[in-house]
Amino acid sequence: RNPEQWCRSFCHFIGQCLIKDFEARPSVTHLLEHPFIKQAHGKDVALPQQLAALIQEQQDLGFVISLASHRHERINTRKTLIIESSPDDDLVNLEFLDEVSFILFYLTSHLQKRYDELQVYTYVGDILIALNPFQNLSIYSPQFSKLYHGVKRADNPPHIFATADAAYRGMVTFCKDQCIIISGESGAGKTESAHLIVQHLTFLGKANNRTLREKILQVNPLVEAFGNACTAINDNSSRFGKYLEMKFTPTGAVIGAKISEYLLEKSRVIKQATGEKNFHIFYYIYAGLYHQDKLRTFRLPSRTPPRLGHQHCKVMHDIVSSKLYAEQFDAIQECFRNIGFTEEEVNSVYRILSAILNTGNIEFASITSQHQTDKSEVPNSESLDNAASLLCIGPEELQEALTSQCVVTRGETIIRTNTVDKAADVRDAMSKALYGRLFSWIVNRINTLLQPDMNICGMNVGILDIFGFENFKKNSFEQLCINIANEQIQFYFNQHIFALEQVSLTNWEVDDIESQDRLFPQATDQTLVDKFEDNLRCKYFWIPKRVELCFGIQHYAGKVMYNVNGFLEKNRDTLPADIVVVLRTSENKLLQQLFSSPLTKTGNVMNVPMQNKGGIILPSRRTETMLTHMTTVLSSSVCLQYSLMDLLSKMVVGQPHFVRCIKPNDDRRALRFGKERVMVQLRYTGILETVNIRRQGFSHRIPFEEFVNRYYYLAFRAHQMPSTNKENVVAILERAKLEAWVLGKTKVFLRYYHVEQLNLLLREV
Ligand code: ATP
Ligand code: MG
Repeated sequence: RNPEQWCRSFCHFIGQCLIKDFEARPSVTHLLEHPFIKQAHGKDVALPQQLAALIQEQQDLGFVISLASHRHERINTRKTLIIESSPDDDLVNLEFLDEVSFILFYLTSHLQKRYDELQVYTYVGDILIALNPFQNLSIYSPQFSKLYHGVKRADNPPHIFATADAAYRGMVTFCKDQCIIISGESGAGKTESAHLIVQHLTFLGKANNRTLREKILQVNPLVEAFGNACTAINDNSSRFGKYLEMKFTPTGAVIGAKISEYLLEKSRVIKQATGEKNFHIFYYIYAGLYHQDKLRTFRLPSRTPPRLGHQHCKVMHDIVSSKLYAEQFDAIQECFRNIGFTEEEVNSVYRILSAILNTGNIEFASITSQHQTDKSEVPNSESLDNAASLLCIGPEELQEALTSQCVVTRGETIIRTNTVDKAADVRDAMSKALYGRLFSWIVNRINTLLQPDMNICGMNVGILDIFGFENFKKNSFEQLCINIANEQIQFYFNQHIFALEQVSLTNWEVDDIESQDRLFPQATDQTLVDKFEDNLRCKYFWIPKRVELCFGIQHYAGKVMYNVNGFLEKNRDTLPADIVVVLRTSENKLLQQLFSSPLTKTGNVMNVPMQNKGGIILPSRRTETMLTHMTTVLSSSVCLQYSLMDLLSKMVVGQPHFVRCIKPNDDRRALRFGKERVMVQLRYTGILETVNIRRQGFSHRIPFEEFVNRYYYLAFRAHQMPSTNKENVVAILERAKLEAWVLGKTKVFLRYYHVEQLNLLLREV
């Protein structure tokens, strides 16, 4: 309860650890300067000399943490230390300093010290912690790539290149697919890290084919122009999940790449939260075409600029005056060209984008006649005509599909007119579908263009970079999807590291919205909340008393309050069949392709063609409407589950490597380290638990056969081909001078550092 006593306990405990383990370590001076000690006590303290060793320049904190937490249990009988501190003290929110907080606090202090010296990377065991520097560092040049090329981890400071190198070595040495899982909050630096990994892997993969190397390096910028946007948290925020697999030959030469995308936040095309923007590409294209004097060619109005976001007028003004956007447009054109898109394809992409921009400007007015009150029309047809022309469809047909719908009841098809609101919904659904399918098409096309030769039996290093955990002032369906996806990644991480059951939120949330939707077609946002309240009894879920249409979820990364407004509609994400039918009549080849097959749940184009392109007679609009109704009414939430599961199952096969990105502050400022912010992130990602398990547990369980095949060089001659039995496993382990391993019936149980040591030895052989 008093700081002095607390500090004494601290010193005693660390001292005890160190006396045993670091007999010969020097100097205590800089330790006394350590903020932890200063803050805890406020004045100098006499400490056991060996304490200094703990604070020494440790690049792998795993060792210190596991030592500290391990000893703590034995030495300190008091489970909780409560400290008092002055209000301006950093420790003020740390009232209960249990052993986890204690070590986290230490770890954070250490990271801060490193961060102040621009050491943004730190290992915790075999996990890489990456602090966002929020400034350009000069540690990613080709010289650095050379430095991190097949050398011992301890020979160089921690680096993202070292993680890429470890994955690459793992793949080449063991002929096993690898995956690098990058996690962290929005703005923590995942996407930047993913770029750096690709950069280093292309270097390691000896892509002597310069063209291929350039192509691979341009994949990320291209898809990110379409899939990233400026949010309140991050100016280049990923609005989709991305798994990029780099393909290599068995000897490690890079031969191609493949992207899987999932859950693009399509709703951004039509609406963004205040202060946020649409997908980058819309700004690029408008500025680019403006500067190339091609707005007219793509029927983009310069007087009444297309609606792009809330403050669209101001934004449009910024766009055309921004040279930067125009330059980005040139860069994207270059990417398209280098990767191998044809002129015709690129032109079609621009036409569709311009059509989406025009579609956003279509307005509806209601027509009230004697017989009908619910009818709408398009009073000013300029935008509609532009959109139709760009999409190569008839303007009348487009207007009809927007303002009316075919309904099939009791075997009869009747045409119903749409109200103004309904027509606007259909318009928005069309924009979303166009964009979603275009995005999937671009991704698929890249995959075809970067596909390696089918005859080479290759291996992969996959890099997972998804949208990070988000908690805004106002959170909606998109945030729920994003946060659930992060929850699932964390679940995968836990399963991999801890092999433990985790109470997962993910199963019920999405299922529940889903069943609501199906069982209660008349459901409203309010009935959704009511049903949640009735059916969900779970400590991670609550409904606040005073706020309407809201519910809260305790996610692994923090509490988030969701606003249910529009949830059901967003979850349905349907595209009226009438629109599909009209778009299929397009004379544009790309557009025909986008709408020639039914949507999968992700909005991807499925591989089951609905109609043969070879001149099959199109069914009448009505028959086809019925058919299409059946295939398009799919919900985005199911897609989330399926596509993410698909992705995770892919990753499970590979050997994982983890990069944890940490955001040191919320102001995106360089050299500003928010201790509390960092600590919270370290806590919820389970860093400490991970380290302990990795250190104390047997993280690698390798069958005898695999072990002998992998490591027999260490104890036998190459031509000997020893039999893959227990005795030979022991012979190898003894020759490698390893201790503390365990033999099972069929497998050898190793600690993670064993594998590291074995691999090093193998490299030396
Ligand atoms: P989201 O989940 O929103 O997609 P993210 O984790 O992918 O976020 P990034 O877009 O990678 O975050 O990073 C946000 C910004 O932080 C970058 O635009 C860049 O300005 C800065 N940043 C991140 N990593 C680095 C780095 N290694 N060096 C310099 N700046 C960086
Ligand atoms: Mg990102």
